[in-house]
Amino acid sequence: MDLRESNIQKLPRATFDVLIVGGGINGAVSAAALSGKGARVALIDRCDFAGFTSQQSSNLIWGGIKYLESHDYRLVRKLCLSRNHLIRNYPSRVKEIRFFSTIEKGFRFHPLFLWAGTWVYWLFGNGFTQIPRLFFKRTIQREEPVVDASNAAGGFEYSDAYLHDNDSRFVFQFVRSAMDRGCIAANYVESLGARREGDIWITRARNVIDGREFEIRSKVLINAAGPFADDHNALTGEQTEHHHAFSKGIHLIVPRLTPNPRILTFFADDGRLFFVIPMGVRTCIGTTDTRVESPLTEVTDKDRRFVLDNINKRLKLEQPLTYADIIAERCGVRPLVVKSAADGNVRDWLQLSRKHEIDVNRAKAHLSIFGGKLTDCVNVGDEVSNIVAELGVALPHRNYKWYGEPHPSVREEYLHQAKLMNLDGYTSPESIETLSSRLWRRYDQQALELLAEIREDPRQAEVLIKGTDYLRCEIQLAKRQEMIVKLEDFLRRRSKIALVVRREEIRNAEGLMEACEILFEDQAQEKFAEYFPEATTRSPDVRPAESRRAAVDAV
Ligand SMILES: Cc1cc2nc3c(=O)[nH]c(=O)nc-3n(C[C@H](O)[C@H](O)[C@H](O)COP(=O)(O)OP(=O)(O)OC[C@H]3O[C@@H](n4cnc5c(N)ncnc54)[C@H](O)[C@@H]3O)c2cc1C
Repeated sequence: MDLRESNIQKLPRATFDVLIVGGGINGAVSAAALSGKGARVALIDRCDFAGFTSQQSSNLIWGGIKYLESHDYRLVRKLCLSRNHLIRNYPSRVKEIRFFSTIEKGFRFHPLFLWAGTWVYWLFGNGFTQIPRLFFKRTIQREEPVVDASNAAGGFEYSDAYLHDNDSRFVFQFVRSAMDRGCIAANYVESLGARREGDIWITRARNVIDGREFEIRSKVLINAAGPFADDHNALTGEQTEHHHAFSKGIHLIVPRLTPNPRILTFFADDGRLFFVIPMGVRTCIGTTDTRVESPLTEVTDKDRRFVLDNINKRLKLEQPLTYADIIAERCGVRPLVVKSAADGNVRDWLQLSRKHEIDVNRAKAHLSIFGGKLTDCVNVGDEVSNIVAELGVALPHRNYKWYGEPHPSVREEYLHQAKLMNLDGYTSPESIETLSSRLWRRYDQQALELLAEIREDPRQAEVLIKGTDYLRCEIQLAKRQEMIVKLEDFLRRRSKIALVVRREEIRNAEGLMEACEILFEDQAQEKFAEYFPEATTRSPDVRPAESRRAAVDAV
């Protein structure tokens, strides 16, 4: 029986201390914190983990320099400290990165003024990062020839951080760590609402894959449904002080625009900050900020035009970017905290605070998490645990440090073993980093398991899906430990293949069907067709892996 099925069977059998509805960043850190501290926790999501907002961010771990303009100094200070904390605790996943900003003539602020702002920002972050630098036009041209500096008044550079892999993988790593500490988690399980009977919450749940319904009992219920938090509260009859308003943001992923590992920033035509973010061998550009009524959004032609026009205006590209350059798109809504519907009607989104709020109904042991950022995730996990303890749930390991990469000695041992077996000799020529650092970042101590598998069978170190850097042993690990239900879970969230490789290339990639066979066994073809409905006329190579291998060997 696979991990998900086994967990689904456990969900109706116990009374949990806490049930968390929603496996985005807020639900994932709540689960990791509470289970690490010793609570009996269940976590469900009606999509995949990080399958909604938490897969659509800009991947930035940042203090929110732009909130200085709205004088939200306390928020900036808090986020800067959270950023520092994440850089310190996730040295391989959260990396400091330079933001290279170009200011055009006639902009509402002079570059010197903004540069002074970056020093304030640096001080808000206790000087933890590299110091800011001021540039004149000619330095911009020399350092970033791709930037069109013809109308530049000047520029500056400062530091923040970003998620090296991807937001959704970062979230899944918290889910994984929660499961390692006893949390019973399952994706594609929807809460249909909950009722309170005596001291217990009874949540009606539905396995989205086969439609089976069952009940989950818990002492505390946490609504971490992100943009759907208000909807879930309506289902359980919960009244809250805070609610959500939504701001839509999109990103486009295009071929790499600059080889320099830094983020280019500009002010777009609407005056808002606009980024060119490195994403491996690609570049991610965006974002937009549009008020919407519903969390269910999609990228429109107007959005694409806005992003492409703004980027073409500010970069000196051999050919302007067109729709044909778009490799993938991301689109989501920022769940912003408001107190009333009127708050949500303000014209300037900067006036809305980006803080998170946790509304607590103590009488019914119910928490609703509103807003939040990836950057603030450790604070959310700690706050939720404190509230749950106040509600009377015993946390026998209250001071347990539930976040962070393993102790440096574990990494040293891993690197030592990797060196002894010459792991980096397997690094594929297209890769921009060594195999040893990539595997550690993705799997931390589980990477030791991968080394053992490669020692036993060197074929495990072969890239399985051609055109990507995923090894056969990684797909095997994903099958065992990463609860992959649909091909999209693997291609879009556990890995970022669907973001950096064009859809037709993935579909035709040698080895994809073997990966499907590992992940889904006899359902491989069905899952392939579910993800690529357009490919129903094409018949992929579905012979068993062994016979295909034999064919290749024969060549
Ligand atoms: C364009 C954009 C850029 C951003 N950039 C950044 C950034 O650079 N840095 C940063 O720190 N933050 C950024 N953010 C903010 C950040 O991404 C979000 O605030 C955060 O991901 C919200 O997480 P969440 O857990 O609250 O919601 P979600 O990730 O949406 O998780 C909620 C989950 O609840 C599940 N759910 C809902 N209803 C039910 C139900 N009935 N039963 C079971 N499950 C249910 C959903 O399926 C979903 O997976 C950005 C956001 C956007 C949109």
